[in-house]
Amino acid sequence: MSLKVSSRRHLVAQSEIRSMSIECARVGGINLAQGVCDLPVPEVVIQGAQDAMDRGTNIYTRFDGRYELRKAIADKQKRFTGMEVDPDGQVVASAGATGAFYAACLALLEEGDEVIVFEPYYGYHIVTMASLGIKPVYVTLEPPDWGFSAQSLEDAVTAKTRAIILNTPSNPAGKVFSREELGIIADFAEAHDIFVFTDEIYEHFVFDGHEHISPATLPGMARRTITISGLSKVFAITGWRLGYAICDPEWALAIGHFSDLVYVCAPAPLQIGAARGLAELGPDYYQSVSDDHQHKRDLFCDTLRDIGLTPHVPDGAYYTLADVTSLPGDTARERALYLLEKTGVACVPGSAFYQGAVGESLARFCFAKEMDILEDAMQRLRSL
Ligand code: PLP
Repeated sequence: MSLKVSSRRHLVAQSEIRSMSIECARVGGINLAQGVCDLPVPEVVIQGAQDAMDRGTNIYTRFDGRYELRKAIADKQKRFTGMEVDPDGQVVASAGATGAFYAACLALLEEGDEVIVFEPYYGYHIVTMASLGIKPVYVTLEPPDWGFSAQSLEDAVTAKTRAIILNTPSNPAGKVFSREELGIIADFAEAHDIFVFTDEIYEHFVFDGHEHISPATLPGMARRTITISGLSKVFAITGWRLGYAICDPEWALAIGHFSDLVYVCAPAPLQIGAARGLAELGPDYYQSVSDDHQHKRDLFCDTLRDIGLTPHVPDGAYYTLADVTSLPGDTARERALYLLEKTGVACVPGSAFYQGAVGESLARFCFAKEMDILEDAMQRLRSL
């Protein structure tokens, strides 16, 4: 029999997140495993997409997205980070941040390259690279502030290192990289002449006065930094598949051509909806979404603390990692399943975010839920 799946097939076996979601559905539980925010989509975004469909904007767009969207992204980037971005050449709209990241890996990395990744990590970064034969090399962030040293980066580097990836604010730890930490990364990237991939999909969710800083804005970093973000989280449109990369025009053209190859373009009318949202929603919108997440973070972390699952309180994004060693079980998965069985609340075993054993003591909860659902989840957890 010569028919068989490819040798990379095992890499995309069902993720812990999906498998917990399936378990959760089986017991009719509350799913705090998946990173899906169920806040309402801003009306202007919906209306913009509907108008676009009505007007007949239903065909392929330019490979890097419609001008309205690229311009709105460039303007927003300038407004929030001060970055000067040319909408014609430096912005590639793609099928989510996921599509933008995949296209960037295809465009800029080779099989056999090594890329430094901080752990706890976002699994898609790892599997995307592994599926292209790129080797992730891990630098472990140390709680409570998820810090790292310049030496830990040096220890990870080899002659094959081509890039470092960071995610700020991060999933799952909610770490917001400080200017000082980004300075260490910038010096390191410069010294070894490597790319910096930065996933900033949670850029608008930062708490307690922390500041989101785009690494590309640090001195000397513009050319080597690939800034990746998207609209999934900030407009609660994870199913629309709209994200983008911002970078030097040379890289952007290559990323755009791979994005075209795999996705052709992001959904045309939805690009218009997102562009309208970016152009018309003011600072109040972004602040109110962030405040809402912060309020939920506080309530949820209090609940975890009260039931003995000590949370690592996040500075950004909308997840919290908690210590689940007080639950019965030998692995994070056994503990997460116990919690689901006893309370009907699903979380993600920490092993989904770590190579080694550290993850076995942790679980990740997503608190970006509608208030009544979150309250129900907290009440169920308190019954533990
Ligand atoms: N990057 C990170 C760090 C995420 O946590 C997620 C979703 O959970 C994504 C990217 C996916 O973004 P998109 O929906 O734009 O593909």
